[in-house]
Amino acid sequence: MLRTRRRASGLDARVRRRRTLLATVALSLAAAGTAAALPVVAIDPGHGGGDSGAVGVLAPGTITGLEPRFNQQLQPILLEKDVNLDVANRLNAWLVARGFPTLMTRTADNAGGDVPYTGVSADLKARTDLANGRLAEVFVSIHQNSARSPLATGTETYVKVGAPEPAQVLASGIQRTLVACLGLRDRGVKERSFYVLRNTAMPAVLVEGGFLSSATDVALLAQPDFRQNMAEAIGAGVFQYAGLGDPGPICAGGSVPPPPKPKAIALARAGKALTQRAGINPRRGDLWVATVRDEAGRTMASVPVRARLPNGKGVAASSRPDGKVLLAVPRRKGKLVVAVAMPGVKVAARATVPARTR
Ligand SMILES: [Zn+2]
Repeated sequence: MLRTRRRASGLDARVRRRRTLLATVALSLAAAGTAAALPVVAIDPGHGGGDSGAVGVLAPGTITGLEPRFNQQLQPILLEKDVNLDVANRLNAWLVARGFPTLMTRTADNAGGDVPYTGVSADLKARTDLANGRLAEVFVSIHQNSARSPLATGTETYVKVGAPEPAQVLASGIQRTLVACLGLRDRGVKERSFYVLRNTAMPAVLVEGGFLSSATDVALLAQPDFRQNMAEAIGAGVFQYAGLGDPGPICAGGSVPPPPKPKAIALARAGKALTQRAGINPRRGDLWVATVRDEAGRTMASVPVRARLPNGKGVAASSRPDGKVLLAVPRRKGKLVVAVAMPGVKVAARATVPARTR
């Protein structure tokens, strides 16, 4: 009995030692594998130096945790460039803690590439040159919004016009986690060829976290905790894009919402009035509306779609807060094909495009 036990425990010890050794090897292999696989993330805090970006007015006595700024009437104000840099620094710390190689296009209140500010276009070029030169694999530009109407509020994420699937997937993932974390209105993923999106060689997105022109949004943007949530939401979007799965609790204990499940997509030609209002000559093209629905038949917002013309060319898609995706389709007789641009999702629709009228 004793003998057996001693022999067994000797065996146990050997097995344990081997297991420990194997675990160590596996761990270091995993660490090496992870380090090699993680994409280089370029973080671009919008504006800086002489370019303050949007300006928000704060209630007297608001504590922002940022350098105090005042306007000529001595009201406390919040500058977009300060908010963007703070969120970028927090995002950088979040990603670095998870092993991501990162680069910041500016780390102080100056222009892109940390050069003295000379002008917006030189500033933007310095940013994209840095990201392209350092072979970044993901580009995230951080901005805050502004509008003439004080009622405009919410979060939106941009990709360039006709952006390929990786950028669309990155944008919709970040938009989803941002909306879940910040709780602001979901304004969707939109396409617009901003300089930094057009001139970067990797999947690139531009985030507009909230509106400095909105009294409710600006009060939130002034809070360090809110900016931390914004950073973690963007980080979680990048984490999932990198194929790493669940990033764990983010935004003070919240979890990342599961990806949406699109079930069907419908295509319809918008009316002539809407087409003309969108600046499209109705003789040459139409405005089409794609609506993605989930399994319960609900309209889904911020789902990336990809549209192709009969000749195989891509069509710019712009999603709206109500979930409708607008497509400016030139009249070229044949089939218009629209599909949900999410990995593993095969939902598509076809429609016939009428020929051009002469
Ligand atoms: Zn901006």
